[in-house]
Amino acid sequence: MSTARDDESFRADVAQWMAQNLAGEFECLRHRGGPGDEEAFPELRKQWERHLAASRWTCIGWPEAYGGRGLSAAQQVIFHEEYARAGGPGRIGHLGETLIGPTLIAHGSDRQKARFLPGIMAGTEYWCQGYSEPGAGSDLGNVQTKAWQDPASGRWVVDGQKVWTSLAHESQWIFVLARCEPSSRGNKGLIFLLMPLDQPGIEIRPIRQMTGTAEFNEVFFDGALAGAEDVVGQPGEGWQIAMALLGFERGLSTLGQQMAFTHELELVCAAARANGAARKPAIRNRIGAAWMGLKAMR
Ligand SMILES: Cc1cc2nc3c(=O)[nH]c(=O)nc-3n(C[C@H](O)[C@H](O)[C@H](O)COP(=O)(O)OP(=O)(O)OC[C@H]3O[C@@H](n4cnc5c(N)ncnc54)[C@H](O)[C@@H]3O)c2cc1C
Repeated sequence: MSTARDDESFRADVAQWMAQNLAGEFECLRHRGGPGDEEAFPELRKQWERHLAASRWTCIGWPEAYGGRGLSAAQQVIFHEEYARAGGPGRIGHLGETLIGPTLIAHGSDRQKARFLPGIMAGTEYWCQGYSEPGAGSDLGNVQTKAWQDPASGRWVVDGQKVWTSLAHESQWIFVLARCEPSSRGNKGLIFLLMPLDQPGIEIRPIRQMTGTAEFNEVFFDGALAGAEDVVGQPGEGWQIAMALLGFERGLSTLGQQMAFTHELELVCAAARANGAARKPAIRNRIGAAWMGLKAMR
């Protein structure tokens, strides 16, 4: 366990590293790539991921046995705080680092860990999440994307559609929740598959939002293939893996976003003070509501 003094010295290390490294060619990434700005500098942000990785600032909460730093929750919070304070850009690698990586560490085969964890940590392979479908959003157990195993090759063949797939257009891999038992219903008879996106059976179509950017996508599967070795857990028991992953999603993974939103609200307050809007009761109410929302999120 880290002491308060360790934590303060760790905070100083992070702040110093960010000040020295979010500079030069990366200077333009400050405060970029957040919500509504997801299309900013994708290639440079991937380069930034590799730069973070070279100094071991990716996957800092992963156990040391898997290449992480095994940092305490308190130090991970400090990292996110300092990252946001310095204006660190939106992390293209966060779905790999905070969702599928920890899920593979907990439930993946040795082969899956050896194959996928190093690329996530190094910032060379990016992942997206294939859960939601047009008829399976809040009601995720209604997933209708089908997977069947080709008896000749052992590979899984996938047909169906996902939606709201963040960053699919920047990713090489997708984890997919699909139905592998045709007569099953609800959360029974599902499978959790790891699939390469760059294959003939997969088409990615961007969804343009009101912000003008296209963070989300629809992903269509038409005879798309997953390797027999790329099932996480047992076929038919994909729901357990999917829920374990959501447990990680509800953990520290969104903390960085909360910090970035806090910074945005500080900018809004400064602007409202400067232009006099802060004196209007309606604006003050909205700023207060946003502040309370941020506290609740944290
Ligand atoms: C920023 C962001 C990123 C996302 N990224 C991804 C991603 O990468 N991959 C992915 O798979 N998904 C992603 N999603 C999708 C998300 O996780 C949810 O699955 C999805 O937003 C909810 O489904 P839906 O839009 O179909 O809404 P619905 O489930 O249709 O809900 C619509 C409305 O109906 C209400 N409602 C639903 N069911 C009930 C009920 N039984 N009783 C009363 N009210 C009900 C809901 O509260 C909501 O107001 C993302 C969503 C957001 C906001």
